[in-house]
Amino acid sequence: MSNFSALHAITHPLFIQHKLTVHVKRDDHIHHIISGNKWRKLKYNLEHAKSTGAKGIITFGGCFSNHIHACAFACLQHKLPVIGIIRGEENNQNNYTLAWAKHWNMQLTFVDRKTYRMRDNEDYLKQLQQEYPDHFIIPEGGSNSLALQGVGEVIDELNQQCEFDTLMTPVGSGGTLAGLVLANNAKHNLLGIAVLKQQNYLEQEVQSLLGEQNKTRKNWRIAHEFHRGGYAKFSLNDADNIRSFSNIVGIDFEPVYSGKMVLALLDLIESGYFPEHHRIVLLHTGGLQGLAGMFERGILNQDEWPLLPVPPVQ
Ligand SMILES: *Cc1c(COP(=O)(O)O)cnc(C)c1O
Repeated sequence: MSNFSALHAITHPLFIQHKLTVHVKRDDHIHHIISGNKWRKLKYNLEHAKSTGAKGIITFGGCFSNHIHACAFACLQHKLPVIGIIRGEENNQNNYTLAWAKHWNMQLTFVDRKTYRMRDNEDYLKQLQQEYPDHFIIPEGGSNSLALQGVGEVIDELNQQCEFDTLMTPVGSGGTLAGLVLANNAKHNLLGIAVLKQQNYLEQEVQSLLGEQNKTRKNWRIAHEFHRGGYAKFSLNDADNIRSFSNIVGIDFEPVYSGKMVLALLDLIESGYFPEHHRIVLLHTGGLQGLAGMFERGILNQDEWPLLPVPPVQ
């Protein structure tokens, strides 16, 4: 699998007014089905599983999870059986995300919220490991040290593609940001945009993923004021603003992750956050499959948004 994603310059009246240069790192184009940052995070996880002779993968996610969708397809490609432990009800199993995951042979196991909360609990994981011997467990969102290695390649690629001052990324579990921090040679600012509300423990998450020896890396921060109400929450006005931005720059974004980064960028520019001639790169983490669940639930109108990576399973 080749994965050197393109870098696109974008123009917008606000960038011109504030004399800023903005590029988009097109990880949304790494693969036509496997969502961008999930591709990066899965790469070394699946290589590791195969090289250590794992019989299969076990992983975790919600009913609309980009990670579940991505992991199902990536495991099919690698001929690795995969069990998805899903938070929620079995009656969700025909939604776009899970229908495709099933179609790609992921075995879905539905658990209640209480059980799902144990997803990082050592005893629970030990129990799973006994139930499924020789399976390799990948945490929710794919975020572990092997994921960091994959994400770090974004920095290696960017160093060959352009010079820049600030790299922005959406932050969910913090794995992507941690991978960028680890690979960054301290030359650039890394600005994470939290897409969840009041998740100030995210800094600790990133620190713990980075490990003791990298605690001193300081050129990163997470902005917590752009979550728009919480995870997967946004107003119709936010959605409209994301669509107009997409129409101006010619790149599609979705409102759960990358779109919140876009809205944060616009707010930050207007507040004078970036000095003149600052060079910004936006990491487009992908995630367009997540739109499907919003079309299905009538939250967004499909006619106004880009086509899904694959049409619904027949
Ligand atoms: C999972 C995901 C993120 C969040 O990445 P983390 O490593 O969990 O912080 C961002 N964007 C998209 C599209 C995602 O699917």
